Amino acid sequence: HTIGTDLRRTIARHGAREALVEVASGRRWTYAELGRAVDEVARGLLAKGIGKGDRVGIWAPNCAEWVLVQYATARIGAILVNVNPAYRVHELAYVLRQAGIACLVSATRHRSSDYRGMIEQVRAESPELREVVYIGDPSWDGLVAAGAAVPPSQLAACEATLTADDPVNIQYTSGTTGFPKGATLSHHNILNNGYWVAETLGYTELDRVCLPVPFYHCFGMVMGNLGATSHGACIVIPAPAFDAATTLKAVQDERCTSLYGVPTMFIAELNHPDFGSYDLTSLRTGVMAGSPCPEEVMKRVVAEMHMSEVSICYGMTETSPVSTQTRRDDDLVHRTATVGRVLPHIEVKVADPASGVTVPRGTPGELCTRGYSVMLGYWAEPEHTAEVIDAARWMHTGDLAVMNDDGYLRIVGRIKDMIIRGGENVYPREIEEFLYSHPKIADVQVVGVPDEKYGEEIAACVILRDPDDPLTLEELAAFCRSRLAHYKVPRHLDLVDAFPMTVSGKVRKIELRERLARDLG
Ligand code: ATP
Ligand code: MG
Repeated sequence: HTIGTDLRRTIARHGAREALVEVASGRRWTYAELGRAVDEVARGLLAKGIGKGDRVGIWAPNCAEWVLVQYATARIGAILVNVNPAYRVHELAYVLRQAGIACLVSATRHRSSDYRGMIEQVRAESPELREVVYIGDPSWDGLVAAGAAVPPSQLAACEATLTADDPVNIQYTSGTTGFPKGATLSHHNILNNGYWVAETLGYTELDRVCLPVPFYHCFGMVMGNLGATSHGACIVIPAPAFDAATTLKAVQDERCTSLYGVPTMFIAELNHPDFGSYDLTSLRTGVMAGSPCPEEVMKRVVAEMHMSEVSICYGMTETSPVSTQTRRDDDLVHRTATVGRVLPHIEVKVADPASGVTVPRGTPGELCTRGYSVMLGYWAEPEHTAEVIDAARWMHTGDLAVMNDDGYLRIVGRIKDMIIRGGENVYPREIEEFLYSHPKIADVQVVGVPDEKYGEEIAACVILRDPDDPLTLEELAAFCRSRLAHYKVPRHLDLVDAFPMTVSGKVRKIELRERLARDLG
């Protein structure tokens, strides 16, 4: 299957069922209507001279047209390039050039961002950019109108040339550890992954999937959109960008059965002052992914949000994204302490990062994955691709994991975040989990900072529950001393109001580290 033929199969089976709801505008599409709308946009792109292999950028917050463009580009074999909504002119110009974007679909503006103004600024230096289409603007209607002149037979002829191994997306990584990288993914990569994630969640055409996670990221566009459409489920877009209250209201009003989020989103929902007033009893499942989930949060999601089958997924953009996932019948212990077992048709190994040799079960090592899900490569960066995919096609994730005897994996951190203090390996995650239980701490990140004596020292960056009830380093150290090995006790404490975040909701530890190193240095 290609993404286009898979969508057609769903339309044939579930044409009359609801496919897409945009809560903010109240607009709704059945699968039959979605099929027609995708068709119009696909023909519109053909009319503008966009075809197989051309790059179509999308720089917009979540909206229904995002979904239409995702499927329309797949149908004509164009490569959709997701452009980070947080970008500004400098980064936009870079990605337009790097990916050679011929057509950019954007919003005129979003919140305080004047997208149109920024695009105008960089147009002159982006020679390959031929077309710009703005959602909710006459240029969008113009695209659709132009498509009316393209006979359906031309679209069918174009589709007939596609294969499942053709590239369909350039998806940029979150930029958690540095500059985002453009993973090039095929129909086969992401359609299968969306399908297997949804299959593991037990989706049917009765499911309604609430997606407050950005479509810009594979979490939204693959696990969300492709997961839903491969099973005839309905995509519910609660808002253009994440907001706790609108998400909870959308779940209630649309009777959603599934809710996605990174841990920080679930924390914001659970802690919202009106949390108790929403009826969330329609929820059954959902996905929590992207970064480690504190156990306490997981327990509350199950108990208070009715998500008894909620699943933890682990993956990365470069692997389409999901490699491991907890199953519906996994008990709470496995669902809180592990990222589940490997998905069908994917291989994993935990290896010594230096030698590549598999380590014994129970020992931390680098997680490597292999199978249909491994990307084609980083777009136009073969040397970077060769750094992460070896000759035997193993993807080296850069994540540290431990596999237990039953094949369940635990992510213990990223190699880049691991602290080496006086020769001891320290995993920030372990200390964070522990500090999370301190009554004064609302959220915490642990990072390594340079130290003359030990090479690196441990610093805790803390968001307080109550800013008027401060915490001292002595207090923190005393709390740790009786229960953590001495070399894991933080020697620096930094009280902050918020952490630097990526668009996909992850903490940029690199920024915390750099700032602390500067302050201490
Ligand atoms: P960049 O590669 O640009 O630094 P990134 O790695 O955060 O950013 P993504 O591809 O969005 O970009 O995220 C993949 C990473 O997220 C994984 O490599 C892993 O470190 C982390 N991750 C994903 N899921 C989980 C999870 N369930 N538990 C812990 N960590 C996770
Ligand atoms: Mg990464």
